Amino acid sequence: MIRAVFVEVSMTEKEFVEKIGPLASEDMSASGILASITAAQACLESGYGSTELAVNANNLFGMKCSLSGNTWASVWDGVSKYTKQTKEQDENGNEYTITADFRKYPDILTSIKDHSCYLNGAMNGNRKRYEGLSGEKDYRKAAELIKAGGYATDVAYVDKLCSLIERWNLTQYDKEDAGMSNSSLVNCTVKSPNHSGARTHSIDRITPHCVVGQLSAESIGGCFDSSNVQASCNYGIGKDGRVVLVVDECNRSWCSSSNANDQRAVTIECASDMSHPYAMTNAVYEKLIALCVDICRRNGKTKLLWFGDKNKTLNYSPKSNEMVLTVHRWFANKSCPGDWLYSRLGDVANRVTAQLSGSSGGGTASGGNTGSGSAGNYKTGLYKVNVGDLNIRKGPGTNYGTNGVITDKGTYTITEIQNGSWGKLKSGAGWINVSTAYCSYVGSASGGTSSSGGGSASGTTYKTGTYKVNVAELNIRKGPGTNYGTNGSIKDKGVYTITEIKNGSWGKLKSGAGWINVNKAYCTYNGAAASSGVGSSSSGSFQVQVSISDLYIRKGPGTNYGKNGFCPKGVYTIVETKSSGGYTWGRLKSGAGWIALEHTKRL
Ligand SMILES: [Zn+2]
Repeated sequence: MIRAVFVEVSMTEKEFVEKIGPLASEDMSASGILASITAAQACLESGYGSTELAVNANNLFGMKCSLSGNTWASVWDGVSKYTKQTKEQDENGNEYTITADFRKYPDILTSIKDHSCYLNGAMNGNRKRYEGLSGEKDYRKAAELIKAGGYATDVAYVDKLCSLIERWNLTQYDKEDAGMSNSSLVNCTVKSPNHSGARTHSIDRITPHCVVGQLSAESIGGCFDSSNVQASCNYGIGKDGRVVLVVDECNRSWCSSSNANDQRAVTIECASDMSHPYAMTNAVYEKLIALCVDICRRNGKTKLLWFGDKNKTLNYSPKSNEMVLTVHRWFANKSCPGDWLYSRLGDVANRVTAQLSGSSGGGTASGGNTGSGSAGNYKTGLYKVNVGDLNIRKGPGTNYGTNGVITDKGTYTITEIQNGSWGKLKSGAGWINVSTAYCSYVGSASGGTSSSGGGSASGTTYKTGTYKVNVAELNIRKGPGTNYGTNGSIKDKGVYTITEIKNGSWGKLKSGAGWINVNKAYCTYNGAAASSGVGSSSSGSFQVQVSISDLYIRKGPGTNYGKNGFCPKGVYTIVETKSSGGYTWGRLKSGAGWIALEHTKRL
């Protein structure tokens, strides 16, 4: 028995770090400045968000309206300001008080972005003050560059930043996809303009709603895409269980008729019947549970609670590992989420908690101390996955970013165990938690690979060409077999071109996204690939203009594919198009990947 060691810390400080880390991560993807450095500077300079400027002006870094060398491109609106008394020192070190104007921001993400604009753009004569900071991956070197540029006079500034980074394990936010990401269960994205920007409270509630209509995921998104409706949600679940992202999880949606609730709740609109009791399909219900598990895991929660009592719930202060269910009917004269779901919320809480239990021994709440799971010692060998969605992580703990999800309940070979129950996948795809809560030990890995694969019909020969996918979700694998890691999954039942067959029924996708099992249990042969492409695909190159700065390049044609970074503004040649998830995707001639053409202008 190992007892997890908890460090008692102020919730306020911890909450601030949990809020700021993901925002610094988001900034890092644009600015190239280490999230750990930004987060440490924010903690130090705003007193964990407690200074007058932080509280009243969302200004974490004491940025004045007028800054020397004001030539850099700022995201501040140039108008909003906050005036306060501030202490200065004269050349003799004597303090005196002046009144100064400071920048006021709509939210703290804008404060972080503006600060990074300053660090990347400030000039000293004709050279950059903080040359080399963007892209520096060593936090101590980054801190030294900031100090050397004249940012702070405190001789201990570098050490202070480094010790904050170590104390709060802030390097976890330097990893790609780290922090308060959106759920990997998202199938499509229809962003709504109706939200308040960054949350002012960390996530500790989930509020499921009923849409009142058996809508698709895209249609739920479409309900909120106009600013006229003044409403939104973080996620929607369509009648077939597909998930739409409407408002980024890090932002406050307008969903539950309560500012206080929505600042801390992830809100989920679920497709339902149009009248009492607003029943939902089984696909919606099961996906709601899976989504709640995912939201809890990514937010460091090991329990989902349902009290079924308004006053008790709203007066309850959740522990750091607890997530609480709330309902719209407590905040407005509505029956939302309908009696069908309301009567099942106890079941939702129990099933989510069961899937979460044993995952971390409670240790994640204290910052990556993934203690022992429940029973015993885990050893290398073969493990059968028993849950429908087991995250693959980049390292042995929930504090590492995810690399994908195992959804096939297959058997996997583990070559190394660390931190109790974390097992390294032989495929190289990453680490999974082989705790008995999720997996069963099958035996030692003698002779290697396991093939479960869905029983390829003997005697059937598969050939290249086009295949129609017939199942709701078909894994894309990195190689021709279930022993390879997943690269995502196909969820649109679309027609795909296969250029090579291996190991019986494994087909290589023309897109380069990976391999799928074209066994007739999953797919139907749709004929030879016409040279001009098939189905919704077409070839023939053309040029598009990208004029937004946050357009992702994806590894394949869909939001279910991994990101390859942002597509810089400019003109690009598209050599192939494909429809998926409501978007038309264009393959970049450069080979960098795919972009959603809806966000570009065809030339
Ligand atoms: Zn509602």
